[in-house]
Amino acid sequence: TQATLALDTAVFDLIQKEKERQTHGIELIASENYVSEQVMRAQGSILTNKYAEGLPGKRYYGGCEIVDQIEQLAIDRAKELFGVEWVNVQPHSGAQANAAVMLAILNPGDKILGFDLSHGGHLTHGSPVNFSGKLYQPSFYGVERETGLIDWEKVKETARREQPKLIICGASAYSRDWDYKALREAADEVGALLLADISHPSGLIAKGLLNNPFDHCHIVTTTTHKTLRGPRGGLIMMGKDFENPFGLKTPKGEIRMMSSLLDSGVFPGTQGGPLEHVIGAKAVAFGECLSDAYTDYTHQVIRNAQALANGFVERGYQIISGGTDNHLMLIDLRSKGLTGKLAENTLIKADITINKNMVPFDDKSPFVTSGMRIGSAAVTTRGLKETDMVRIVDFIDEVLTHNADDTRISRIRGEINEWMQQYPLFS
Ligand code: PLP
Repeated sequence: TQATLALDTAVFDLIQKEKERQTHGIELIASENYVSEQVMRAQGSILTNKYAEGLPGKRYYGGCEIVDQIEQLAIDRAKELFGVEWVNVQPHSGAQANAAVMLAILNPGDKILGFDLSHGGHLTHGSPVNFSGKLYQPSFYGVERETGLIDWEKVKETARREQPKLIICGASAYSRDWDYKALREAADEVGALLLADISHPSGLIAKGLLNNPFDHCHIVTTTTHKTLRGPRGGLIMMGKDFENPFGLKTPKGEIRMMSSLLDSGVFPGTQGGPLEHVIGAKAVAFGECLSDAYTDYTHQVIRNAQALANGFVERGYQIISGGTDNHLMLIDLRSKGLTGKLAENTLIKADITINKNMVPFDDKSPFVTSGMRIGSAAVTTRGLKETDMVRIVDFIDEVLTHNADDTRISRIRGEINEWMQQYPLFS
């Protein structure tokens, strides 16, 4: 029987090793976080056994009475958390959420305008190697060379020139806030829809610590696993369940509300059965996000990011745009004579995980890069505070300055492993 199957040690021994890796080191990858025990319990639950194509109350399978209630909890909690009227909690990931939106509101060959990947944008915002750049005609806006900031007037000029059907804002590596009002003006001028992909800062936005995209953007997507600290997945949201402003039609030629179009962009447009175990875990995570403890967490995420940024600046590192408003920063290592690849590969020897990243106007390839991206979401979950951030910057600086000194790096790794023992992660 299933109950007597032997434990698959090939897999579970590796999971144990990964658990130790996550526990021993300092996690600074800006897109990662640690979920709670109950998020993992929901995701690892029997909900994985259930097919539930459709939406709560309107399924194509029987036996969905319970998963309907779970999915409805996830929807209601997400609505409360972001203060929005409409949510679809089914996208399997952030990329899937964006694919569903584009399928719902664009036709192949339509023009889209996104933030340049090499300036901090995401693949799904029009990169030629992604569906978004293959199916649609992309153009891009970027940051200014001197300031590292987006010039909103220039975005408007680019929109006027390119006449896109969709303008996408949001990024994977932009440390400053977004002027959604200016972007909406750009969209209105050319008759485009405006999509904000808030995958990275969504938890900070939910708590009002950054500008609110829902006041201005027609549609908002996010991942659920970064600052939001939920299971890996995606969400599509709208502040208002608005009527279809441009008369967009379904494949059957019907004009429907935007919510209905977007729902069908997810299923049957780009996905089959929803992952109800992940949706259960999303519901748990959103419940956690509604707590005061999570509000405190988001404030600490920003304080820790500021402490990291100040620490790097004091040690002569060049942060793109000079600092951060959110949980992450992008550091140009050229002034230190280092590459992103070298930094990533050397820091991992000290059990510090960061990722190499292109910087705007980078002269190196995406495999080498001139930058490193650093975020405070995971270390903040771990319980670290501002003074700890200063210690982390000191460790990073020492490792990078002495990147060929393996004895010194292994001594630092030992110190870090001992330090992290004071911050247990999992029971
Ligand atoms: N959008 C943005 C801005 C992201 O940063 C990411 C992930 O890094 C995604 C979308 C894609 O999310 P996923 O990896 O869940 O597909």
